Amino acid sequence: LLGALGVVVPTRRFPFAFSRLARALSEVAQVSAHLRPPEPPSLAPPPEPSLQVEVVEPPCPLKERANLRDYPGAYRASLEDPESFFGSFAREFHWETPWERVHDPATHTWFGGGRTNAALNALDRHLPEKAQQVALITLDGDGHLEKWTYRELLDLSSRLAGVFQNLGVKRGDRVALYLPTGLEAALSLLALARIGAVHVALPVGLGPEALRERLLQSQVRLLVAADGYFRRGQLIPLRPVVEAALSGLDLPVLWHTRGTTEFLERASEGKPADAVPVPAQQPLFILHTSGSTGRPKGVVHGHGGYMVGVSWALRYLFDLKPGEIFHTTADLFWVVGHSFGLYAPLFLGGTSLLVEDRPDHPNPAAFYERLRRFGVDVLLTSPTVLRTLRRHGEARPTSLRLVGSVGEALAPEVWRWTWENLAWPLDNWWQTELGAPALATPLTLPAKPGFVGIPLPGVEARVVDAEGRVLPPGAKGHLVLLRAGPAHMVDLLGGESPWRGGLYWTGDLATWDEEGYFRILGRSEEVIKVGEARLGTAEVEAAALTHPQVAEAAAIGIPGEEGEEIVVFAVPKKEVPEELKALLAEKIKAHLLRHLGPVPPPRIVFVERLPRTRSGKILRRLLKAELLGVDPGDVSALEEEYGGAKTS
Ligand code: ATP
Ligand code: MG
Repeated sequence: LLGALGVVVPTRRFPFAFSRLARALSEVAQVSAHLRPPEPPSLAPPPEPSLQVEVVEPPCPLKERANLRDYPGAYRASLEDPESFFGSFAREFHWETPWERVHDPATHTWFGGGRTNAALNALDRHLPEKAQQVALITLDGDGHLEKWTYRELLDLSSRLAGVFQNLGVKRGDRVALYLPTGLEAALSLLALARIGAVHVALPVGLGPEALRERLLQSQVRLLVAADGYFRRGQLIPLRPVVEAALSGLDLPVLWHTRGTTEFLERASEGKPADAVPVPAQQPLFILHTSGSTGRPKGVVHGHGGYMVGVSWALRYLFDLKPGEIFHTTADLFWVVGHSFGLYAPLFLGGTSLLVEDRPDHPNPAAFYERLRRFGVDVLLTSPTVLRTLRRHGEARPTSLRLVGSVGEALAPEVWRWTWENLAWPLDNWWQTELGAPALATPLTLPAKPGFVGIPLPGVEARVVDAEGRVLPPGAKGHLVLLRAGPAHMVDLLGGESPWRGGLYWTGDLATWDEEGYFRILGRSEEVIKVGEARLGTAEVEAAALTHPQVAEAAAIGIPGEEGEEIVVFAVPKKEVPEELKALLAEKIKAHLLRHLGPVPPPRIVFVERLPRTRSGKILRRLLKAELLGVDPGDVSALEEEYGGAKTS
């Protein structure tokens, strides 16, 4: 892939301002001086093809109007003096009791001793000034559109909180939600947060067994469930799923019946409940990871640090400005939806557009039209969505200024398509456990397509070998963090802590360059071992995507004669006639060999679709298990539309 990146080409759209770029890069180098290992690295880098990377300067108007102009200065301040850096930002919020210490690195706690409440900061704090401002725009799967002001959300959620209290829900109790993205889901999250209860959001589409298992694991005392949700225009019934999941369990259910206003009427009958100040570390929610590598873990986030971390990212990384409209295509019940569909936009007093159905339903044109119609300024989406849009060719004009991409590696081809068709792409790397972006390319710095970027304030990252020894630029190794930001989780259920030996092991394979830019190569446990070389799945997939006929690709390694054999599952952009398949496979193989260097020829398998998690990540371990005929393990996170990797 390194070769696949090509040479530095000034794009015509944005003439290369070399001196500015050189200046910006030297500032990044200053920042990364912080990141340099104190001693010379002890291991020699493995041989690598020479790295020629495209460097793209962000457009001037974007940089000049950025909410954060001096990124290197901010980063330095965050590491040298986290107390004042994050403390002064946190003081914008309401704290019932001020914190004693901003950050305790020994326990990874933030704002210890402080007492606050996420719902109070999302709603009450903005009144009366923003009473009439629209906080949420909701578009249901049946096309029903509504706008909800801060006053309305506060009124409805505080009454719903009263209903929860009447049902016996108390501070610290866990309540599960099985609802599609929409008003009822948002209100439920805010109402539970308000009374210090813990919301456990379970995305619709989970089957009865997976639902039951999570309900039992989280020990919830109430379930709020919808009796249906819309998927690609179809109303999918949920009552049978919930009833099967609950069989034999004594768990009360508060139903949201689709097509009726029963739920809202019931909510409005409640006696408004006040927001309860809770310790900063008090659990706000439990949310499961995507389940890409195995059984999903239950990540617990708290009220205080999470609020500060997601809000900082929305204002200073995603650059949201007052009066602008934010939209994420992520399900509200995935971490991206929790953090940026709901909480961060409300913490900042902004406006978020929530859409129930798939972004490209009924077609990509409808997606572009929606963005234009609502005047969405900043979009946060995933590489999967961008690849789907790219497959359909050119985009239509939208109002977008910035497109965040999270969840998987953003291949250079897809980065370029996004920039040429939508708006400035902003790749950002994080995990459910981290709550908010940890690595990204701030929009005042040059982007290097294929590289996610540099650490964000409060975060220090390295690439290390299996023993935790820092590797030099260019070498592939494990991505670890030395420090994580304020939105770091407060607890983890059903998994081991990622902190070992003073390092946070992310589970991802990465490399970094001389300027401190990181490139995510895939999951460490999915690394493909060919001879002496170690290839990340993202490297092979990005190379495959540079072939003009490849829309999607998933790479795995399977046991071969010498080390592993690379298998690439490719979804062709257009249907390939049977008699041309062998020829196209040969062409893609040759193309890959040109880009990957001296590796044994990969095997190409054409498929109609790839298995994905509900959050849109390619589930490679399922492809591998299907190919080898072995048990794939826990695939409860598999998207419901997948019907097997039909070879095409
Ligand atoms: P599980 O932990 O259950 O296996 P998961 O890791 O997929 O699931 P998430 O927390 O939703 O669950 O995803 C985090 C992971 O997503 C990261 O560890 C990384 O592998 C991948 N990821 C997220 N953002 C990016 C990005 N910008 N570039 C590359 N990979 C990314
Ligand atoms: Mg993970």
